[in-house]
Amino acid sequence: MVTTVSVWILGDQLLVRHPALLAAEARVGRAAVTVLLVESEARLAQQRYHRRKLVLILSAMRHYAAALRAAGYRVDLRRAPDFATAVREHLAEHGADRMIAMAAAERGTRALQHALAHDLPLELLPNTQLLCGQHDPLPGTPITRRVVLETFYRAMRRHFGVLLDDAGAPLGGQWNYDAANRRPLPRTVGVPPAQQFAPDSITLATIDEVQQRAGVGDAAGFDLPVTHDDARRALAGFIAGRLSRFGDYEDAMRADDGVLFHSVLSPALNIGLLEPLEVIRAAERAYHVGDAPLNAVEGFVRQILGWREYMYWQYWRIGEHLVTANAWGAHRSLPAFFWHGSSDMHCVATVVQRVHQTGYAHHIERLMILSNLCMLAGITPAHVNDWFLASFVDAYDWVMVPNVFGMGLNADGGGVATKPYIASAAYIDRMSDYCAGCRFNPRIRHGPDACPFNVLYWNFLIAHEARLRANPRFGPAVLGLRHLDVAERAAVQQAAIALLAGWSGEPPP
Ligand SMILES: Cc1cc2nc3c(=O)[nH]c(=O)nc-3n(C[C@H](O)[C@H](O)[C@H](O)COP(=O)(O)OP(=O)(O)OC[C@H]3O[C@@H](n4cnc5c(N)ncnc54)[C@H](O)[C@@H]3O)c2cc1C
Repeated sequence: MVTTVSVWILGDQLLVRHPALLAAEARVGRAAVTVLLVESEARLAQQRYHRRKLVLILSAMRHYAAALRAAGYRVDLRRAPDFATAVREHLAEHGADRMIAMAAAERGTRALQHALAHDLPLELLPNTQLLCGQHDPLPGTPITRRVVLETFYRAMRRHFGVLLDDAGAPLGGQWNYDAANRRPLPRTVGVPPAQQFAPDSITLATIDEVQQRAGVGDAAGFDLPVTHDDARRALAGFIAGRLSRFGDYEDAMRADDGVLFHSVLSPALNIGLLEPLEVIRAAERAYHVGDAPLNAVEGFVRQILGWREYMYWQYWRIGEHLVTANAWGAHRSLPAFFWHGSSDMHCVATVVQRVHQTGYAHHIERLMILSNLCMLAGITPAHVNDWFLASFVDAYDWVMVPNVFGMGLNADGGGVATKPYIASAAYIDRMSDYCAGCRFNPRIRHGPDACPFNVLYWNFLIAHEARLRANPRFGPAVLGLRHLDVAERAAVQQAAIALLAGWSGEPPP
């Protein structure tokens, strides 16, 4: 007969209603449950991480432990060389007959859990942190079948009943308002600032500790929510202050503001301080009470119920193949300016320095500045992935691999995203004010003043012309090549060779 049960909760599973905790309590009652939370040295040092990410996870775990204790649980929060050692030592010391855990969202930790379950009384519950872990909208889809976001997203909307009318049709008559979400941001539009959460004593002590560790960026100035209450305040603040314009200006960029109308909720969502459905329902409510228009709410819901879930679903479906994919034959080293942020390109320097400082950039800066540049320059996908993993506060293998290899670099040749997200300086100029403050000219294709995005864009089109022409979503862009005669093509190619030769690829500092 089972008498005492331990529950092992990972640092990115800090859910209010953790399934393993609920299961254990239902079986033996709260008094017989001990919760294990592990600060694993091996996991923290698996690679260099942004120091703000380390503060976020450690401080949130420590607050979570305190909240569980206050709710009457016994908690074993322990620092250990690695997860396996911690689990074995915990079981030996606490004499639990059984341990219950929820499967990890990431492949590496999940494999370790399965290995431990071979010789320990460890029971693994399915991961239900992501909604597609609760309901697979397209079960049994063969790995060879290409599934586009839209198919997945509509199936998720139908199943979870999101933004539907009584007949089950999409509100407003359309599933997707993407076309209404691409406006540049006029200077006259003011942007309410994102909330900041002043660190309490637990977080301050964690910041001091993390500053001594190897890592990227600076933990000082850390201002993210680390408790459920603060994460809900961040959600409420976003809904009240920024959601209504999220749709219109979702793709806009501005040199003096790295957040604009984005939510900055990914750090809290990815560690369980917020759950996807509570965020989605809050946005839906804002539409129903008239606080936000449909293009904003649908656009936001599409990010969470669509892209976020789709990425997780693809990670577990094709992720193993993604990490070795290199469909465009990209083999160059990552330029050193990704680590120090010193570049003549105003947009690149601003975004990289901001990421270094805060661990955050919004989606379009990640996609159309950072990964666009890497794809056009032919940087090895694994190097790009490592940089993103090291640099972002919300970075985890399950979300990074499909976003970098799939969406950002099209390294899978179009499994995750239907077209390569590449663009010249014209796009950056249209959607931001970066070019106005830059020494390069966004309107010329080559020569000393030409924006490197132009040189590399046209060089990429020339190098991959036949293949791009065959892609119905990209074909029209290649038609622009007809304006380049043989001499200009050669000039672009020469300029690209010279430009890339001048970018030193150095290891991280
Ligand atoms: C190259 C690249 C790397 C990325 N790396 C990460 C990462 O490490 N971690 C991460 O959470 N997201 C990543 N994203 C996705 C997206 O850029 C971030 O989720 C988003 O910028 C987070 O900021 P936000 O909370 O203000 O998002 P908002 O713009 O306010 O969007 C709301 C939420 O939607 C979700 N979301 C939107 N797009 C995506 C997407 N493509 N994939 C997954 N979730 C999405 C996020 O949870 C986000 O919080 C990456 C995208 C690209 C192109």
